[in-house]
Amino acid sequence: MNLLWLQSGGCGGCTMSLLCHDSHDLVAMLRDAGINLLWHPALSEQTGAETVALLDACARGDTPVDLLCIEGAMLRGPQGTGRFHMLAGTGRPMIAWVKDLAARARYTLAIGSCAAWGGITAGGMNPAEACGLQYDGETRGGLLGADYRSVAGWPVINVAGCPTHPAWVVETLLGLTLGELDPDGLDALGRPRFYADHLVHHGCSRNEFYEFKASAEKASDLGCLMENLGCMGTQAHADCNVRPWNGGGSCITGGYACIACTEPGFEEPGHPFATTPKVAGIPTGLPSDMPKAWFVALAALSKSATPKRVRDNARVDHPVVAPALRKARPK
Ligand code: SF4
Ligand code: SF4
Repeated sequence: MNLLWLQSGGCGGCTMSLLCHDSHDLVAMLRDAGINLLWHPALSEQTGAETVALLDACARGDTPVDLLCIEGAMLRGPQGTGRFHMLAGTGRPMIAWVKDLAARARYTLAIGSCAAWGGITAGGMNPAEACGLQYDGETRGGLLGADYRSVAGWPVINVAGCPTHPAWVVETLLGLTLGELDPDGLDALGRPRFYADHLVHHGCSRNEFYEFKASAEKASDLGCLMENLGCMGTQAHADCNVRPWNGGGSCITGGYACIACTEPGFEEPGHPFATTPKVAGIPTGLPSDMPKAWFVALAALSKSATPKRVRDNARVDHPVVAPALRKARPK
C-alpha cells in the first residue's frame, strides 16, 4: 500500500504527535505491515523537483495512492481561489492537488481535526476560508463534498483530534492495510470507532471525584474538572484515558480539562476553554446519554453523600486525607 502524506493549514502538531508513537522505528514498522511511504514532508528526503514529479505521477494515476493522508485544514481563500496555500514549485493551490489526488486515492484520511472539520484553523472570522476534507465544522461538505467517496467506496476517514493520537493514526493505517477495518468501523462522523466509541471520561483518574461531584476549583486541584474548569470528557468521543499518550497520561492527568478536540466545532465552544458555562448553577454541557433531570437529582444526592476524604482532596494538589484503614480484611 502506497502512503502519501500532505500538510496544509495546520500547525504540524499531528505529525509531531505521530513521531511520538511507541514503535521503535515507525517507518520500518509501517514497511513491515506492507505500507510504502511515498512521501511525507517531514520524513522524506526527496524535495523540490523530485517531489513535484512524484505528485504529478500520483495525480495522473501512474503511481497508485492507496492511503492519502491529509494533515491541516483546506484553505479555500481568498474568495475560493485557494491561493492562500500554493504548493511550492507547482504554481497550483494545495486544494487543487488534494482534489486531484483524492479522486485517485483508494482511501482518504483526514489526519487531525483541522483536516477533518477545519479545526483551530477555521476559528474566529476564518479569513483563510478553512474547512475540512468532507466537513465544514459540523456541516457535511467541506472541500470534497458530502458525496465524496474514495476509489474503495469510503467517505473520508476522520482521524480527528488536536493533535490526533499517534496510535489512532497507526491503528487506522494498519487496519486498512490488513483488511481489519471496514466501513462499519466508522462512526456517523467518519471517525474510527475503535477510539470514537469511547468517551474521554472512561478511565479518567478523577472518576471518584466525579461520582461525588467533588470538584476542583483551580487547575492544580485533584478534583473533577467538569463543574468549574470546563471539562467536556463526558461528551468527548475518544479513548484518551484508556489509551494513554506518550506512554502515560492525558490532558486531564496533566491537570488540564478535556476540550473535546475530537469533535467538530470544538475550537469555538462559546466560552473560555477552562470555564464551565452554567445556568442557575447547573453546567449546560451535561454528560452524553443523561437527561438533565437525572443529572441534577444524582448530583444533589452525590454531594450530600460525599465522604470527607473525597471532598477535602478535591481542592488540593496532593491527597491530604488517606483512605481509612480497614479493621477487617477486604471481603
Ligand atoms: S489538528 Fe491540531 S495539532 Fe493537528 S495540525 Fe491542526 S492544530 Fe495542529
Ligand atoms: S475530569 Fe472530566 S473526564 Fe475526568 S471524571 Fe471529571 S468530567 Fe470525567
